Amino acid sequence: MKTCPWCGVPDARRIEFGYPGQKMMEAEERGEIVLGGCLAPPRELGVWRLCMSCNRTFNEETGQSIEDAYEEYMASLNQPK
Ligand SMILES: [Zn+2]
Repeated sequence: MKTCPWCGVPDARRIEFGYPGQKMMEAEERGEIVLGGCLAPPRELGVWRLCMSCNRTFNEETGQSIEDAYEEYMASLNQPK
């Protein structure tokens, strides 16, 4: 289990996006992952986790929340070339 950068509780589960198949459903039931729904953030932003304690999201590498990272990503797309 990963430790949450927001609250320090080591119970942050990997978020799996996309339509859940049988395997994903089972993994969720075992508490290994959480289902993130079909609206996936851009793949290049990396792996996301959801803290089961404070319910906040963070990026495994940067520690950013999905909202912050997404905003930054969109801003980078709009940069004039
Ligand atoms: Zn937390």
